[in-house]
Amino acid sequence: MSDSPVWHAFTQHGLNEPIGLVTHGEGAALHTADGRRVIDAISSWWVTTHGHRNPRVMAAIRAQTEKLDQLIFAGWTHEPAEEVARGLTAIMPPDLTRVFFSDSGSTCVEVALKMALGYWANRGEPRHRLVVMEHSYHGDTIGAMSVGARGVFNAAYAPLLFDVGRVPFPSDPQATLDALEAECRAGAAAFIVEPLVLGAGGMMMYGPLVLAEMRAICAHHGTLFIADEVMTGWGRTGSLLAGEQAGIVPDLLCLSKGLTGGALPLAVTMASEAIWDAHYSTDRALTFFHSSSYTANPIACAAAAENLAIWREEPVLERVADLAARQERHLATLAGHPAIRDLRRCGTITAMELGGEDAAYLSGLGPALLGYFRDRDVLLRPLGNTVYVMPPYCIGDDDLATVYATIRSAADAVAAGDFSR
Ligand SMILES: *Cc1c(COP(=O)(O)O)cnc(C)c1O
Repeated sequence: MSDSPVWHAFTQHGLNEPIGLVTHGEGAALHTADGRRVIDAISSWWVTTHGHRNPRVMAAIRAQTEKLDQLIFAGWTHEPAEEVARGLTAIMPPDLTRVFFSDSGSTCVEVALKMALGYWANRGEPRHRLVVMEHSYHGDTIGAMSVGARGVFNAAYAPLLFDVGRVPFPSDPQATLDALEAECRAGAAAFIVEPLVLGAGGMMMYGPLVLAEMRAICAHHGTLFIADEVMTGWGRTGSLLAGEQAGIVPDLLCLSKGLTGGALPLAVTMASEAIWDAHYSTDRALTFFHSSSYTANPIACAAAAENLAIWREEPVLERVADLAARQERHLATLAGHPAIRDLRRCGTITAMELGGEDAAYLSGLGPALLGYFRDRDVLLRPLGNTVYVMPPYCIGDDDLATVYATIRSAADAVAAGDFSR
């Protein structure tokens, strides 16, 4: 594949890691051109909720291609977009009354940040400062990077990134709450956070109590609360939204990955009526100035409308609870392994650290594990030495058992020092 002109995402091509050619997928399985069946244990980067090529979603896409492929989304609308917006307002918290479409997790975050600052500017009481949680990830566009963790991933672009306030991850909840309180009292415009699980930051998990308290502090000071549920939404953490477990409703809600069941790119930013009101006027200067060419693409919306129908008509939360229970059972079998630490789970997501706390060679462990899993036809993509499992909800028992057996054998190899040689 080295003669391919494709420049892959998050890939150091100089390392010449093999790049698999997938020809088809079904459920939790990917089939390669060289005849392998690979278990997709991370839902193709966290998007595939109902499994690959879900028949209902595929049929909805096919049907929409017979009607309308693309439409300018200013001055015109189409039934799939209206259906998605109605469907979302029906199942999401009732205070989130407005639906703005975009194309990816990063862009729905950008939209939320712009809406938050627009809210304050349009009300004539400008507030500028954004507050974020350490180790967060909100996407790879400039604004989304600015509100995310800084590090090797974005050091080269630091001159483009704007300054934000940072509160610590709540390993000590009171320290987080105190820092947030100080930022809000100083007049922060908005606080953006991933509820319950910080995904790309290493599947770091925190409890609903501190989430509820963070929400209350923001409400008290008028600081807008932006919930980035791009990863945690659509059942991942055991409930439709992670925020439900804390009984919170944000001012702005970002949704993408599972919005189409993982079939096509689409995102929404849902906003409260107050944020809509701040932009609603006969004054053109108060318009929410944002668009992208493919905003609310009809085919992507048809997939999202079908995803919403699946949520309404099928026992998705039961499947989620069943997967969560199976994940818990498998996770328990790894407890006490000498090369595994910090076993944790939130809903359908499990995570753990491989290797000893003190091992300096670990910097190379992530790529070594990636290759180890790939050679065994299991798609797992560790974040550093954090191994996590986030499968499609339809994954079968045998496949899930294989995933954990492979993790165990990798941990055995780590314990035996096989990766340090
Ligand atoms: C993946 C992710 C994003 C970015 O989504 P893209 O579709 O990759 O742009 C934003 N926020 C969170 C929490 C994510 O996990």
